[in-house]
Amino acid sequence: MARIVVVGGSLGGLRVTEGLYAAGWDGEVVVLSAEEHAPYTRPPLSKAALTAAPDLATLAFKQRPEAGRAEWRYGVSAVSCDLDARTLRLSDGTDLSWDGLVAATGVEARRLPEVVGTGGHVVRTYDDCRALQERLTTGTRLVVLGAGFIGSEIAATAVRLGCEVDVVALDDVPMQAPLGREVGAAIQRRHEREGVRFHLGRGIASFTCGTDATRVTLEDGTKVEGDVLVQAIGSAPATSWLAGNDLDLTDGLVCDNDLRIEGRRGVVAVGDVARFPNPLIDDVPRRVEHWQMPMDTARRAAATLLSDLTAAVVDTAPFAPLPSFWSDQYDLRVQSFGSLAVADRAEVLEGDLDDEAVVGYFRGDDLVGALLLGMPRQMVRVRKMVVAALAQRQECPRDRDAPAAGG
Ligand code: FAD
Repeated sequence: MARIVVVGGSLGGLRVTEGLYAAGWDGEVVVLSAEEHAPYTRPPLSKAALTAAPDLATLAFKQRPEAGRAEWRYGVSAVSCDLDARTLRLSDGTDLSWDGLVAATGVEARRLPEVVGTGGHVVRTYDDCRALQERLTTGTRLVVLGAGFIGSEIAATAVRLGCEVDVVALDDVPMQAPLGREVGAAIQRRHEREGVRFHLGRGIASFTCGTDATRVTLEDGTKVEGDVLVQAIGSAPATSWLAGNDLDLTDGLVCDNDLRIEGRRGVVAVGDVARFPNPLIDDVPRRVEHWQMPMDTARRAAATLLSDLTAAVVDTAPFAPLPSFWSDQYDLRVQSFGSLAVADRAEVLEGDLDDEAVVGYFRGDDLVGALLLGMPRQMVRVRKMVVAALAQRQECPRDRDAPAAGG
């Protein structure tokens, strides 16, 4: 019987497995999961799950019955893969052959180089969350390295738990890269009103981290001391198991628009690790590390595998999912649609950044994304506005690229 192996048993791995069987796959599916737990949702790990002992049962995904037809191997990783021979070497020392392969290995939390310092917490998995949650009590002095989404969410959760929180980051404002300076500065003010202290725009020269004390020294000599340290400095795609196959592993797995890795038939990627061109935005392959993307890519990757491995007739329309994400900090929901990453300017369209607002993100004159700070009732309308603007750009690419009058 033909076999598809799914490497990575989280959101992307689960949804592609369900999608394969739902679309008519009648062969084997084996899911390899490095973690010991059944698939669970990660967004609460930097939010509600940090406020009390996190319960795996409440974090576990609801699964469609089709998922139960697969063989799930927990605590087993793919160590290496030979794409030509179609075999995997597993962490339990066995080999596994496949007819179709899904890379659903996501990303791993980055740590600063050892010469800067070692130790401290990261938050990527349930076990990470549990270890940090046990340390966060009223009066704990928490030092967060990094002011991206996860660092900012952890800071917000910890300060509401009664911790003293210091955030240290190289950027000038929190979430500068994804949201821009003006929005980042407004979110920083919100954190400061809650009592979070920021040390921004300076690199970290070194840090020490013992069981009960941590000290960070910034490049300008400033020292930040605390009891507990979290490294929230970003993530790296988990692709080392595919080394040696002559693939570009610089930033995830480069896919075509059908999610085939470098165009190889029967070999696809989904979720955070997949880097693919999205015609809704442009033809540059990009990764998107947000919850909705594993869902969308899983559906398309399952269809691609079925068409490569069987005679199934599948959707041939270009794959053009709408990027979106949300983040919860205090009582504020930050929600985005479209691609803020490609914008060259942001403009407040409605409201006030220090209260609730809709912010438009533009590339030239084109609206390429929008962000809601609060305003949950405007979500459907803003989403429609972004979808319409992106669809119009897709229909008139020539207008977009035409030289300006007189130019
Ligand atoms: P992952 O969830 O990373 O799963 C990959 C799995 O593959 C892991 O279980 C890993 O252990 C396993 N694996 C890796 N290598 C191997 C191997 N060699 N063999 C076998 N298994 C392997 N998104 C939002 O939109 N909003 C949010 O508010 C939000 N909050 C978040 C908060 C936190 C703390 C985190 C960590 C993420 C958050 N996200 C959020 C992002 C969202 O959770 C991810 O986009 C999503 O989990 C990606 O799913 P995935 O299946 O692609 O990868």
